[in-house]
Amino acid sequence: MESAKRVADKKDWIKGATGDWEVIIGLEVHAQVLSKAKLFSGSSAEFGGDPNAHVSTVDAAMPGMLPVINKFCVEQAVRTGLGLKAQINNYSVFDRKNYFYPDLPQGYQISQYKQPVVGEGQVLVDVDADTTVTVGIERLHLEQDAGKSLHDQHPNMSFVDLNRSGCALMEIVSRPDMRSADEAKAYVTKLRQIMRYLGTCDGNMEQGSMRADVNVSVRRPGGEFGTRCEIKNVNSIRFMGQAIEYEARRQIGILEDGGKIDQETRLFDARKGETRSMRSKEEAHDYRYFPDPDLLPLELEQAWVDGIAAALPELPDEKKSRFVKTYGLSAYDASVLVSERASADYFESVAKGRDGKLAANWVINELFGRLNKEGKTVETSPVSATQIGGIVNLIAAGTISGKIAKDVFEIIWTEGGNPADVVEARGLKQVTDTGAIEKAVDEIVAANPDKVEAARAKPNMLGWFVGQVMKSTGGKANPQAVNDILKAKLGL
Ligand code: ADP
Ligand code: MG
Repeated sequence: MESAKRVADKKDWIKGATGDWEVIIGLEVHAQVLSKAKLFSGSSAEFGGDPNAHVSTVDAAMPGMLPVINKFCVEQAVRTGLGLKAQINNYSVFDRKNYFYPDLPQGYQISQYKQPVVGEGQVLVDVDADTTVTVGIERLHLEQDAGKSLHDQHPNMSFVDLNRSGCALMEIVSRPDMRSADEAKAYVTKLRQIMRYLGTCDGNMEQGSMRADVNVSVRRPGGEFGTRCEIKNVNSIRFMGQAIEYEARRQIGILEDGGKIDQETRLFDARKGETRSMRSKEEAHDYRYFPDPDLLPLELEQAWVDGIAAALPELPDEKKSRFVKTYGLSAYDASVLVSERASADYFESVAKGRDGKLAANWVINELFGRLNKEGKTVETSPVSATQIGGIVNLIAAGTISGKIAKDVFEIIWTEGGNPADVVEARGLKQVTDTGAIEKAVDEIVAANPDKVEAARAKPNMLGWFVGQVMKSTGGKANPQAVNDILKAKLGL
């Protein structure tokens, strides 16, 4: 089905006083291009720095300055477009978007209007373990960031910091294809993931590298689209969810009271958890766009675009299906592993030449579980892929049981070392010597005649015996051997 026509899942419908409603969401995401220099000047695009430390005459819009396009920023936009399976436009145009703001020294922003560098694309979004939706991309264009007004540095003056002025942004405009706050959150998470894989945006929302203008409207399920409101500059995924929930309910309240929605720009107040009006459509700017006469149209050679396409890294969707196919993983486990490129790489070095499912189990449950608890990442993990691989080897060879393996992991996490040496030095090897296991079984059987009777009547009592044998062997007996010997001795 054409995704724009999609009707939300019933569970996502919102109950109003007069019936059900559906929320429609479209996002304009601003993503800062990962590059050393700004879009039209050689100044550093690095985050932070003393105020106005990264400002050239171009960024400060000194008279006579001339912008010069940064080829790498264009390459980053093309790379992102390819990652979004989008049309790359080999001919695009930079326009001036005119408005006055103290932190916009040029009096206009250089942006792309009618002819963006990237056209239509699409993103597959995993909303939960068994729901994937397709979100259409309308366009991606390049534009300059503005500076920043500082109102809290002086009792009666405002200051302007132009460090951000002229940094390259990609504005990624989605189709109104999302139908719940969760879908919108998952979409932004996926965009971020794709750009991090590509190395085109660091996705650091706390530092403002990614922010979203959130367009929200409501309609009766499957009905005509309603009038939308745009919530500006939402800078966290959690806030985005809250803003959508609040805004949808606000609009439903107005419509159910017989009112109508004014198309307007709103702001989300994170402290109060609500949106409030910033300006109405009547007050909307007329930006008087026109092609920037200082810049030639941007013309890309197809061979150059093809070169970028050929050098793209494997992206999350492809990696995920390869993990499912190659390692026999569930789609869910595969998506957990590919969430970050570094985690996927870590998993692959563990899985290479080993049992993929066992490797995934260890990486997801033991390692990620522990890393999360300690606020660490695979990059700062005290246990390396080689060490986890060593543990997996020992389990696969039957040298240690899964239970002992957890103890070994614990030792390695705190003390380091080679798993095989740790097992050897601490005498943790699994007892596979059937003679020794038999002896332990005989002792327990002899000491518990009543339980033996019970087990013959109720075979699931076997577990109790297994537990006893494991206990008496310090957890080192091979569980399979224990089972087999017990069954034979008890005649089960
Ligand atoms: P404009 O040119 O006024 O900015 P666009 O058509 O470019 O409008 O849309 C801007 C954003 O608003 C897009 O992300 C789009 O998906 C979204 N959008 C458009 N119509 C609706 C709607 N009825 N409800 C929610 N979002 C919408
Ligand atoms: Mg628009």
